[in-house]
This record gives sequence, C-alpha cells and structure tokens, in this order.
Amino acid sequence: SIVYLNGEYMPMSEAKISPMDRGFLFGDGIYEVIPSYDGKLVGFAPHIERMEQGLNAIDIELGYSIETWRDISETLMSKNDGANLGIYLHVSRGPDTRRFHAYPEHVTPTVYAFSFEIAPEPKANKATVKQYVVSSTQDMRWQRCNIKSTALLGNVMHFQQGYKAGNSEIILFNANNEITEGSTSNVYIVKDGVAITPLLDHQVLPGITRLVLLDILRKEGTIKVEERVVTMDEARNADEVWLTSSSKEIVPVVELDGEPVGDGQVGDVWEKAQALYSAGKYDY
Ligand code: PLP
Repeated sequence: SIVYLNGEYMPMSEAKISPMDRGFLFGDGIYEVIPSYDGKLVGFAPHIERMEQGLNAIDIELGYSIETWRDISETLMSKNDGANLGIYLHVSRGPDTRRFHAYPEHVTPTVYAFSFEIAPEPKANKATVKQYVVSSTQDMRWQRCNIKSTALLGNVMHFQQGYKAGNSEIILFNANNEITEGSTSNVYIVKDGVAITPLLDHQVLPGITRLVLLDILRKEGTIKVEERVVTMDEARNADEVWLTSSSKEIVPVVELDGEPVGDGQVGDVWEKAQALYSAGKYDY
C-alpha cells in the first residue's frame, strides 16, 4: 500500500524511520484513526481537533492545518484500494541524536500516515450485528488516558488479557469499581431506556464516536443520555451494555464476565441508537 511519510507518498516497504525516533524509543507521540466509507470520512474535524489537543499536551509543534491533514487523508484514500478505509495518522516527536528523556529542542517531528481496510459500514440490525462477549479487569494504565498517546502498552496488555480468554474486548474499572472505558473503546450502559456513559476525565479517552453519538442522541431526543459515574455493579444489572469506537461504531455486549447482559439478547435501544448514528454520522 501507499503511505505518507514526512511530506512524501511511497510504498510502505520504502518508508524508513530512524531507530532513534522518540516514537520508537519512548512511545513519544500522538495518533488518530479516522474511518471512511465509500470515500466519506466520519468525524474528520473532531478527530483532527483531538490530535491537536494531544500534540499541545505534549508540546509537539507541528503546524499542519486541518486542510493539510484532509489532503493527506484523501490522497491516501485515492492512492489505495478499498471502499472502506481507516486512516491512521501518527506524529512522533522525531529522531534525536541520543536517548535522553527531556524533550529535545531542535528536532523535526515524524509524520506518518497509512490507510487500512475496515469492515463494511455497520448497520442497525439485531440479527447480523456481531455480539460482543467481554470481561472486565481493574484499569492499570497511566493517569493521562485522555491523551491519545502512541504509548499503548497498557491498552495492549489489557486487550490481550481479554483476547487470550476468548473475549472481544475488556472493560476497565478503577479502584472505586467505577468504569473508565474499554481497552480500545468507550463504554455505555442502558437502564430503563437511558443511555449512561462515564464522564470524561483523565481516565478516559474522549472518543469521537462518543462525541458524535451523544450529540445525535441529544438532538433527536428519544433516548435520554447521562454522563456520570457508572459502577461495575450497575453494568452487571444493566438492560444493555454498548461499546463505541471509530472502527466499530456502536456494538452490543451480550455477555459480561460470563453472565448475560440483560436478557442476553441484543437490545432495542442499541438498534435505535445505531440507526440514528448511521443516519447522522456524516454530518460530523
Ligand atoms: N478508548 C480507547 C482506549 C480507544 O483506544 C479508543 C479508540 O480506539 C476509544 C476509546 C474510542 O475512540 P474513538 O471513538 O475516537 O475511536
């Protein structure tokens, strides 16, 4: 496939990055994943805004405009085959001459982007949707999970823990038994028709799917939304549990730690929410 590296497009096999790149040595970088279906990107502006917030948070000055990012993303879409592509954007602090923890002063950030095929556009269909079976564990990641850092070892280890046990995702909770998020997704419960999701703070990545979904639900008004503390006990007694991410949209969880969620079937509120998301997502 054709990738973007530091201003140029090239076959992936020709893209070379220094072994002294701080992205490689320290995981010192920020990334994004943006979905597209039939050439239409979902949530492009909020994805770029989140990346800029991440770059600001770690003092990387890059100066790419949103138009530049759009040009890179659309060029990758046109140079690579596939109707449904995820666009991966990555900025690391760049290559240094030595391995020293402090941010170096005169270093040029490394900018890398590639596209990859994603599943077809999700549909709000109870019969065909993938039903997620998940486990849970205490969140052992760092205290700045609001930054979309390329340093993902904590997420990777948590995901692997669920994966090797045969689960599709693992839900994380803090020392107070409050849900933070999934290892690759945001978490929601549904109780008595209300969709409830943890508040955004340092424990949670501010998901773009979450942002778009909550906005769509609030504007449409049929499904009430709450952002507040959600405990694991509430999840175990919920009518429905959902996860969201850019590549999954909204997925229903039917089993949590070996117990059925609600009646163990995909819920009506999920179907309604996914239908509303499908209809509204290209406006973001
Ligand atoms: N939380 C974590 C830890 C993630 O890695 C992701 C994305 O993959 C999300 C939440 C969902 O974010 P988004 O909806 O922006 O994809």
